[in-house]
Amino acid sequence: MIKIAIIGAGPAGIYCALHLQNLTNINIDIYEKDIALKTLLPTGGGRCNLTHYAEDIKDFASNYPRGEKFLYSVFSRHFVSDTLSFFNSIDIKTYMQDDLRYFPISNSAKDMRIKMLNALKGPAIIKKEIKSLKQLINYEIIIISTGSRNGYNLANEAGHKIVEPKAALCGLKLSADSPKYPQGVVLRTNCGDILFTKNGVSGPLIYKISSINARKNFPYEITIPIIDIQELEKSVRENPKKTIGNIVSKYIPKSLARTILNNHDKKCANITNNEIKELENITFKVVGCDAKGEIVTCGGVDLREINNHCQSKINPKIYFCGEVMDIDGFCGGYNLQNCWSSAYCVAENIKTCLFSQKGQLQA
Ligand SMILES: Cc1cc2nc3c(=O)[nH]c(=O)nc-3n(C[C@H](O)[C@H](O)[C@H](O)COP(=O)(O)OP(=O)(O)OC[C@H]3O[C@@H](n4cnc5c(N)ncnc54)[C@H](O)[C@@H]3O)c2cc1C
Repeated sequence: MIKIAIIGAGPAGIYCALHLQNLTNINIDIYEKDIALKTLLPTGGGRCNLTHYAEDIKDFASNYPRGEKFLYSVFSRHFVSDTLSFFNSIDIKTYMQDDLRYFPISNSAKDMRIKMLNALKGPAIIKKEIKSLKQLINYEIIIISTGSRNGYNLANEAGHKIVEPKAALCGLKLSADSPKYPQGVVLRTNCGDILFTKNGVSGPLIYKISSINARKNFPYEITIPIIDIQELEKSVRENPKKTIGNIVSKYIPKSLARTILNNHDKKCANITNNEIKELENITFKVVGCDAKGEIVTCGGVDLREINNHCQSKINPKIYFCGEVMDIDGFCGGYNLQNCWSSAYCVAENIKTCLFSQKGQLQA
């Protein structure tokens, strides 16, 4: 009997267990310090955006600021269509939204959690925090799927380096001398939406920027195009009697126009080309991130010490899957797809290793 310990019953740990459980002569124990798949519940605003439409592996992997190249091989073993088929096989039917994100048909992360746990037949979930790998000395294989930040000490104990964790997919704080932007207002731009918050900015575009800049030191500036300058110029010249504030409000929310224009009531006839040009972009001075709103963590177990089967190069009895590795993606289902694919790779490799050891695959 081969004994396997999975540390962490999050999406990665449970998906891995689901792909291992049909092997005979193995015993799987899943250690969870909290509640199994609790972390699935808030995903996709409670609807669980489980993955994203994909045609091409390289294209898909370009949505991961960390881990892009590592994932080529992982995705070549288990990609979006494999994940969707698997979920279908355990009665989790899915659909694709217009924006190419996938959700369960139930639109319920709660329902998805129940179905995943119901599909788990053999493995036991043991409520216990693993503080040291020494607690698992009786296991032949240990899978670390502890998610962000939590399991780094365990990886360290196994001899692994941790790439310093930083918040990603989070809101950004702006410098105190920034204009008093209207809180709660959404600015729609061609690059994505920006939400003005109490002391900064948030929303899909800002999440993406926070992710790209996760390793950048504060303060830094970001400049985002907000108005098509040729259209604005045309509008200003065609309406010489109107105020610039009136015209700009056609393109951005009125309250924001009032904040960013110091010549709000000036007639368009008196607006210079330079003044128009200044309205093309908005520039934010970013002084920090809203770490409480962190959706994923940039950083984690150094990928240079993990092979493309997600197995430790330092200690072959250890595997990693999910967010504990230095992999993070943009919003849209990419982070969960990392969990599904890396968890599958771990299970697949363990099966292969057992096959080569025993001369037959015991399925
Ligand atoms: C609000 C929010 C919304 C999100 N929405 C989406 C979305 O719609 N789509 C998407 O793709 N991604 C989304 N994400 C990201 C996604 O949830 C994570 O990437 C994913 O949960 C990571 O899964 P994981 O299994 O690697 O780790 P986790 O989900 O963090 O699970 C790890 C588990 O291990 C347990 N654990 C940790 N250490 C120990 C220990 N020492 N002993 C025992 N147990 C331990 C934890 O309690 C936890 O249950 C969202 C994240 C947040 C915060």
